[in-house]
Amino acid sequence: MAASFIFTRFRHHTSQRVDSLSQKSQWTDWRWQLASSIRNKKDFENYLQQNNIPNVVEIMQRYDFSVQEEIRLTPFLLSLVDWSNPCDPIAAQHLPSKKEHTQTHHISSVWEQTSDFLDQDNRMLQQKYPDIVVLRLSNTCHSYCRFCFEKERTLLNRVPTKTGEDEFQACIEIIQRQPNIRQVLVTGGDPLVLPDNILLDRVEKLLKIPQIRIVRINSRAWLHNPFRFTAELAEKLGQLQRDSWTWGQTRGKEIHLGTHFNHPNELTPEALAAVRLMQQHGLHIYNQTVLLKNINDSFETIFELFKKLREENVRLHYFSHAMPVPGTEHLRTPVRKGQEIMQKLRQSKEFRGQLPHYEMSHVLGKQIVPDSMSENFYEATKEKSNESIIRFLSDITGQWEEYPDGKG
Ligand code: SF4
Repeated sequence: MAASFIFTRFRHHTSQRVDSLSQKSQWTDWRWQLASSIRNKKDFENYLQQNNIPNVVEIMQRYDFSVQEEIRLTPFLLSLVDWSNPCDPIAAQHLPSKKEHTQTHHISSVWEQTSDFLDQDNRMLQQKYPDIVVLRLSNTCHSYCRFCFEKERTLLNRVPTKTGEDEFQACIEIIQRQPNIRQVLVTGGDPLVLPDNILLDRVEKLLKIPQIRIVRINSRAWLHNPFRFTAELAEKLGQLQRDSWTWGQTRGKEIHLGTHFNHPNELTPEALAAVRLMQQHGLHIYNQTVLLKNINDSFETIFELFKKLREENVRLHYFSHAMPVPGTEHLRTPVRKGQEIMQKLRQSKEFRGQLPHYEMSHVLGKQIVPDSMSENFYEATKEKSNESIIRFLSDITGQWEEYPDGKG
């Protein structure tokens, strides 16, 4: 590990003791945060000891470091955790639980199951909808989330996508040949692990494809490493968006930035400063939240999160049911839980038309979940395996489909 962690942030990100100016500039350097990530049990123990966190032995016993997946946690992310709370929502999303080993889900990532890659060899470009493609620009992230549906490529590093210049160029050529594609969703891993020159070059090339109207960039750096959103990056992305009006078309293009906040504790002053900085440069911000058991599965938590995001002019894009990723059963609620939360959100009259759709990501695309069970959308049990499922008449395929439900 590259550095020692003498930066103590006190609970609930209210204050931070930084011992000198140079340490402060180091702390706010996104590259330093990445280079100083905690990568294993020993790093983690060192972090706790060097920051004088009480009860190190007890904290070490809470987690399971024998997991085969990679661990990656920025010092900034760890500084947000309240270690006196065994159920801290940020720790629960990022540190390996002993429950991960006791689970039986055989369903692998959606990424592995689908055949909708437009570049089958490299598996960088995927299309589920006629007007949107998903483009993966990286296999790594600033920190790794335990519930990640991209585990195969990120945490597990089993089937990494080729994301080099040649592969990217091949994707550009494929998109150019498809006049119906209007949006490119740039994702990863986290595309914001790329340095500015590569990221900006790729975004510009995508925006310059005549039929592309919007490039979306999804990232969790807002939580993991908010210092990634530098003034320079904001200025250059904003400039690209403004320049697009001069590219010989009658309309400009837009860059939308996706956040992935799951809990109000994640809306740190640093994250909100990053959101406001990007907005100041004319970039549109939207949020996607995943429903996670014992982390944010209550009306009060989601209400507070959505209210704060709306106050920041962050559009509420999707509220997602956690996908059936192996080793994440303990983080999945039944679909019914999300329906109950959605009903209460509607009854609160706080959000009206600004509420996001509640969706479950099926291999075929995002299936919108109705507010209550019905004859076309109901809970069932699979006969042979006894597995709890949702059986539904898909509005995507028009066929009856199944989806693995979470446990109550
Ligand atoms: S940042 Fe996104 S892609 Fe990376 S581990 Fe978290 S959820 Fe997965």
